[in-house]
Amino acid sequence: MRYVIVGFGVAGIAAIEAIRSVDKENEIVLVGDDPNGFYSRPGLAYFLTGELHDKALYPRTANDFKRLRFNTIRGRVTRIVREKQELEIEGKPPLMYDRLLLAVGAQAMPLEVPGANLDGVLKLDHLEDAKKILKYARRGKTAVVVGGGITALELVEGFVARGVKVHYLLRGDRYWSNVLDEQESRIVEHRLEEEDVALHYHAEVTEVIGRNGRVHGIRLLDGKVLKCDLVAYAIGIRARTELAKQSGLAIDRGILVNEYLQTNDPIIFAAGDVAQAYDPLTKRSILDSLWGPARQQGYTAGLNMAGKKTAYIKSAPFNVTRLAGLTTTIIGTVGRGKDDDLVGIARGDSETWRHLPEAIVAQTGFEVNRLRLLVGEKKLLGAIVMGDQKLSFPLEKIVSGNVDISPIREKLLAPNARVGDIVADFWSNYQTTAVKK
Ligand SMILES: Cc1cc2nc3c(=O)[nH]c(=O)nc-3n(C[C@H](O)[C@H](O)[C@H](O)COP(=O)(O)OP(=O)(O)OC[C@H]3O[C@@H](n4cnc5c(N)ncnc54)[C@H](O)[C@@H]3O)c2cc1C
Repeated sequence: MRYVIVGFGVAGIAAIEAIRSVDKENEIVLVGDDPNGFYSRPGLAYFLTGELHDKALYPRTANDFKRLRFNTIRGRVTRIVREKQELEIEGKPPLMYDRLLLAVGAQAMPLEVPGANLDGVLKLDHLEDAKKILKYARRGKTAVVVGGGITALELVEGFVARGVKVHYLLRGDRYWSNVLDEQESRIVEHRLEEEDVALHYHAEVTEVIGRNGRVHGIRLLDGKVLKCDLVAYAIGIRARTELAKQSGLAIDRGILVNEYLQTNDPIIFAAGDVAQAYDPLTKRSILDSLWGPARQQGYTAGLNMAGKKTAYIKSAPFNVTRLAGLTTTIIGTVGRGKDDDLVGIARGDSETWRHLPEAIVAQTGFEVNRLRLLVGEKKLLGAIVMGDQKLSFPLEKIVSGNVDISPIREKLLAPNARVGDIVADFWSNYQTTAVKK
């Protein structure tokens, strides 16, 4: 019996941990094409700003891996031959599998304009990309950043930290409008302006202009030209579904899996950014690009591969991130609820956030500390906490635990309600009652 895991990311590693917790004997082979192995991708943002050294990006030691007893093949899987239960790997002999996990993640959507292949056009998928960005980011240079989500902002912040002048292009009239509300977008934009970032609204690149093979500027949809040395883009990601598609597995925006993370071939599983898993909250199969769910999916897939039948119960997506230096926690469903927003998910993002639930908004705070709650009939369906993070832990528990908030619903929705204080009191009482029970 041989388990084969494709993908050296958090989903792949979690699957190995789960398999070993059940099956101490059988062979596990991990195939991965990233020369840097397993590291924290969310940590790349802090590597760019200089807050983290690359050595701090590795969550596991060589000893941790040794204990898990698996073999590693460095290489790229190019084909799955399902009839033979075999993988084709570039430059390597074929590899037979009894159980297969596809944990191949997602990749940046390409910038499809003339000049996009010029030297100085950058993206942020891997550690190698981050190292390349640092090589190019020198004081006195000018960069144009394109894209609306978390990663685009991480690129902006990385450049600012390295003394690069930044032009930040937004396609619409505000930052990340399908997840943040107007006030939240403006808080972020204001902070960027304070960092001397030039914001351009309704701005779309139509061409990267080159000189001697290097970036020299960009042309915008309105014909305007901006001179720059670098162009960095984060315009969304795409699940790496090619292997699954080629071998006839069911795919949609990602590889479709059932609650056991199983594809339509019962011996092939998928987990992490590449998997489109069922979300009971929105009753849809959705994509996440979040470390926590990727880990949870990988672990659950591993248990199922080793014969311990376990359903994947998706919890409310949760991310603590930094938007223009402001710690921000996003929980559950918080978006505008337009279905067309589902086109293109970004890094550190969840499709769940885009759905607007049947809910009323309660909010408080105007400047740095802001709190927005999506209040349903009896439950809180989502929350955004910006700045002061005192309430992010209780809110995560309240949203993901489907806690009945009927006793405070009216109070939360009253005009000028002190939403933060109401939640804090409720949580403190809730905990006391829970302990007594
Ligand atoms: C810049 C950045 C910022 C992020 N910010 C956040 C954040 O704030 N919060 C958060 O929760 N998440 C964040 N994420 C997302 C999070 O890192 C991912 O959700 C998570 O890493 C997904 O894990 P995975 O194992 O599914 O895929 P990945 O980590 O992408 O791993 C997939 C692996 O498969 C390998 N692979 C692909 N194809 C093949 C092939 N054919 N053959 C062999 N190997 C292959 C890849 O090289 C890679 O090593 C961020 C990601 C990035 C890049």
